[in-house]
Amino acid sequence: MKRTIRLLAPLVTVGVVIAGGTAAQAAPAGLQLVQTRQSLLGAHTWYQQTYRGIPVFGGYYATHTDKGVLTVDDGRKAVTGLADDIAGLTAQGARSKVAGRLGKQPGSAQLVIVPGSPATLAWMTLTPTGKGTYRTLVDADSGALLQEKNTVRQADGKGRVFDPNPVVKLQNESLTDNDNADGPQFARAYRTVRLTQLDRGTDKLHGRYAFNISDNQVTNHSRTFLFNRSQDGFEQVMAYYSITGAQEYIHRLGFRDVNNEPQDFSTTGYEDDNSYYDPSVDGITFGTGGVDDAEDNEVIWHEYGHAIQDDQVPGFGESEEAGSIGEGFGDYWAVTMSQATSPNTAVTPWACVMDWDATSYTDDTPHCLRRTDGPKVYPGDLENEVHADGEIWSHALWDVNRALGRTTANRVILESQFFFNPTISMPEAARRTVATALVLYGPYAALKTRAAFHARGIL
Ligand SMILES: [Zn+2]
Repeated sequence: MKRTIRLLAPLVTVGVVIAGGTAAQAAPAGLQLVQTRQSLLGAHTWYQQTYRGIPVFGGYYATHTDKGVLTVDDGRKAVTGLADDIAGLTAQGARSKVAGRLGKQPGSAQLVIVPGSPATLAWMTLTPTGKGTYRTLVDADSGALLQEKNTVRQADGKGRVFDPNPVVKLQNESLTDNDNADGPQFARAYRTVRLTQLDRGTDKLHGRYAFNISDNQVTNHSRTFLFNRSQDGFEQVMAYYSITGAQEYIHRLGFRDVNNEPQDFSTTGYEDDNSYYDPSVDGITFGTGGVDDAEDNEVIWHEYGHAIQDDQVPGFGESEEAGSIGEGFGDYWAVTMSQATSPNTAVTPWACVMDWDATSYTDDTPHCLRRTDGPKVYPGDLENEVHADGEIWSHALWDVNRALGRTTANRVILESQFFFNPTISMPEAARRTVATALVLYGPYAALKTRAAFHARGIL
């Protein structure tokens, strides 16, 4: 049943005195003061546009004073064709409609005018849910849904992870996979962390920089993902966390366009003790043989390294040497990401790659899949196998890191890769890296970068 709402509210006129007090100036009629904020340069006053006393949805008016100079930002919307008499829903009617849709009672309902031609009178409800507050606009005449939006801007969740992995965290080279079983020996290796960049409203591990496409993917309405290593969800959380963290780091370095997308990943269904990045589908798959690969951040970051390069240079790694640069960069990227959260110790040196994953297939300690500080040189030690030959490249990058510092080195390395091509040779890639160091940081940085490649026989 409908009821008539009559728009009787008087015109509201707000006389405005600009903050600062000297230059009094009236703002247009129909404005409702929202707030005034003081900044370094002046005062910023915000108003809500109203029409016959009712807020106009999205309509604003702002004044900025900078040492007495006034500027206006007029965001008022045209309101035309609004009927005087509207047969409509009551506030309670609107609330019940929304409650039926969202399964939760709205906390508030207020009339607003949705601008347009004709403008529409609507109820705006705010409904708290486990996924954040939903703002819903319901046509006050017809009851139709006009718009619904989760107002959460950046959704965080909670997850349990290893960071970077139990061997490093516990400084214990004798840990073993033990058939993926959890146990008290791992208790102090777990950390509960914030999962950032999740899509608004999602109950999955779907976010701005990482996108879980695993089979049987985990869901949680309050975005709380607490698993142990024996559970399939654990590796999904690890991959989401580590990929997102790497991309946030890339953004902190100043790059806005280096694999700046939700990276697909899967941690289930591939039972080999291996992982891969597949450029044809732009996805990373983590194997579950031995230690589940996504239990070791350095495996995740190595694979993400491939995704980074493939995003910078389409089809990167076509030749044997370019493929070796790809593997070397992946190992380097794993190590430099670990630098942020792990100590460089005799038990687990930074240069040791994948300390935890490698416990499944190496006998010597420290357990390392490969190292970024080995003795190989170019071209004498080339074996025509990309992972083995990648150790030459990763060592050169590691020396750049040691010489210039982590931040500077990583800016140079990421920036230079934009100038690579799919079949680039090691000497050519090295020359472009040196040239990038020169432009970004000057002759001293270029000299140090050149020395790192020279020490490996590349330049
Ligand atoms: Zn690789």
